[in-house]
Amino acid sequence: MNAFSRKELSPKLFFALSAVLLAGAVFAQQAADAVAPEAATEGSFEEISPAVAEALASKAAGTPVTAQNWMVAAANPHAVQAGASVLEAGGTAADALVAVQTVLGLVEPQSSGLGGGAFLIYFDAETRALTTMDGRETAPLEATPRLFQDDAGEPLQFFDAVVGGRSVGTPGTPALLEALHRRWGKLAWGPLLDPAIELADGGFAVSPRLAGLVENDKERLSRFETTANFFYPNGVAVQAGDTLQNPEYAETLRAMAAGGADAFYTGEIATDIVQTVRNAPGNPGVLSTLDLSIYQVKERAPVCVSYRAHDVCGMGPPSSGALTVGQILGTLEGVDLAGMGPESATTWQMIGDASRLAFADRGRYMADADFVPMPKMGLVDPDYLSERAGLLTEGAALTEDAVVPGAPDWDHAQLWADDISLELPSTSHISIVDSYGNVASMTTTIENGFGSRLMVRGFLLNNELTDFSFKTHADGLPIANRLEPGKRPRSSMAPTIVMKDGAPVLAIGSPGGSRIIGYVAKSIIAHLDWRMDVQQAVDLPHLVNRFGTYDLEEGTSAADFGPALEEMGFEVNQRGLTSGLHAIAIGSDLQGGADPRREGIALGE
Ligand code: GLU
Repeated sequence: MNAFSRKELSPKLFFALSAVLLAGAVFAQQAADAVAPEAATEGSFEEISPAVAEALASKAAGTPVTAQNWMVAAANPHAVQAGASVLEAGGTAADALVAVQTVLGLVEPQSSGLGGGAFLIYFDAETRALTTMDGRETAPLEATPRLFQDDAGEPLQFFDAVVGGRSVGTPGTPALLEALHRRWGKLAWGPLLDPAIELADGGFAVSPRLAGLVENDKERLSRFETTANFFYPNGVAVQAGDTLQNPEYAETLRAMAAGGADAFYTGEIATDIVQTVRNAPGNPGVLSTLDLSIYQVKERAPVCVSYRAHDVCGMGPPSSGALTVGQILGTLEGVDLAGMGPESATTWQMIGDASRLAFADRGRYMADADFVPMPKMGLVDPDYLSERAGLLTEGAALTEDAVVPGAPDWDHAQLWADDISLELPSTSHISIVDSYGNVASMTTTIENGFGSRLMVRGFLLNNELTDFSFKTHADGLPIANRLEPGKRPRSSMAPTIVMKDGAPVLAIGSPGGSRIIGYVAKSIIAHLDWRMDVQQAVDLPHLVNRFGTYDLEEGTSAADFGPALEEMGFEVNQRGLTSGLHAIAIGSDLQGGADPRREGIALGE
C-alpha cells in the first residue's frame, strides 16, 4: 500500500484498503466454489470492505446511502472504494475522480478509460462557481468528412465503422484528469494512481457484467491479437470471479504518475497508440502523433436551465446533454407534473412529447459549436420553450408530422439538415462530493462497449468518431454534426449539477447513448417533482422517447403504461434499458443512489 501512509488513514480505512488487495484471492476462491457466477462476484464485492457490503445492501433494499462529510457514487465498488480512500485522506472531489477513473479503466474497461473521453461539471466550494471541462475526443487532422462512407458515398454499416482504427479519435480523458487535478487537486498526483496500479498488478476479480460482455462480443474482440490475448487467455473467455491482472496498464499508469499526461500524449505510449490505429488489420485509421501532441481540454461555461426554481446545469456543446435535458425540463415547466404524479399515463405522454420535440431540435442544430454556428442559448430560452410547450396536448400524442425542429433565436441565418446518428450504450458516470463541499459530476466513455476493440498498453481505444453523422449532407443541406478534422463529435453525455439559490443540491448523470438524456431528465423530475429520494429516483422504471417510439423498460411496471400510451397515439416498444445513474443529493446530509441496473454503489462517511 503506497497510496497513503498508514498513519494518514483511520484503522477502518486501512483495513478496507488492505481488503482490496486481498480481495483478488478471496474472489478467485469464491468463484471456484460458486454455482452461479453472479452470486460469486456479488459476494466478492462485499469482501472489499464492510462499508461496501453495507452500501450493496442499501442499494438492494432501495434506500439511499447517507453520510455527513463526503460521498462517491460510481459504477464499480473497487473504483468507489478507491475514491473513498482519497476523500477520507482529505482529498478533493478532483483528487478522488483521478483515483475512481483510473480504477474504472481497469475493472470496467469496456466502458471508459485512458483511451476515451469525458465531460466534467465541477462546483468549486471556495469560489462558488460552476465550471465544465470538455475532454471529448477530436477527429484526426487527416480525417475527411467522408471517413464513414464507402466508395459510392454511402454510409458504412455501424460495426464496420466501429471495429478497428477508423473510429478512433484523439483520447481526452488523460488530459482531462491532469487538468482537473491541476485546477482543483490537493493531494499529490502520483499516489492518486496507486489504487489502480496495485489492483492492476495484483489482479481484480472479473465482474459478472464484464464477463457477460466479453462472452457476447467474442467475434469482434477476437479480431485483434492484443485484445484477444487479454480477454481470452488461452482462447477462453475470462469468467466472472477470475482474477485478471493488467501489468501493461500498471506500467502505463506508472509512466503517467511520473510524467503526467505528457507521458501519454508524447513519446512511446503515443507512438504505440498511433501504430495500433494505423495498422489495425482490415480497418486502419488516420490518427497521428500530431493529433495526440496538440490535444487540448477545453474549459467552457456551463449551460443552465431553470426548472422548479432550481438551475439544472451541465455540459454544453459539443455535448447535446445539457441543452436537450434543459429543453425537456423547460418545455414541461408549465405542466403540473407534481399534481399528475408518476402513475398517470398522461404524465408520460407529456414527458415523451416534450422529449420528441427536444430531439427534433437536437438532430437539426446540435454539434461542436467551435465548428458550426448553432443557436445555443436560443434553444433553452424560456420564451422559445413555452412556445414549444404550446404544441403539447394533454392526453394525445403529437402526430409524427408535428414533431419538427423549431426556429429558436440565433444570430446566424443558417440551415442544417437533420441528423440521426446511431449511439449504442457503454460509458460510466461518477458523482462525488468532498468534505470541503466541492462537487464533481463526470460522464466518461470509450463510446461502444469495448470501443474500437483495439487495445494498447493495457487500455482500449475509443470509437468516439462514430458519434459523428456518417452522412455529410441531406437534401442538399449540410448536417451540423458531420465529421471535420479537429472537430469533436456530438455527445449525449449529460453530467449534471442541480443548483438551488447558488448552492449545489444534486449531482447526477448516466451512460446510455442518446437515452442518457431521458434517464437524467426523468430522474430529476422524480427527485424535484415527485420528491423521491435519489435511490428511488434512480430505481424508477424507465420510459424513454427520443425519435417517436416509446421505449418502456421491460420486466418493470413501466411496461404497464403500454396500452394507454398506444391509445394516445404512440408506438411502444418494450426493451432492456441499461442506464447507470449515479446520484448524490446534497442537503442537511448527503444521500447517494446507485443504479440497480449496473454494479455500482454509493459510499460515504
Ligand atoms: N458516445 C456516447 C456519447 O458521447 C455515449 C455512449 C454511451 O452512453 O454509451 O453520447
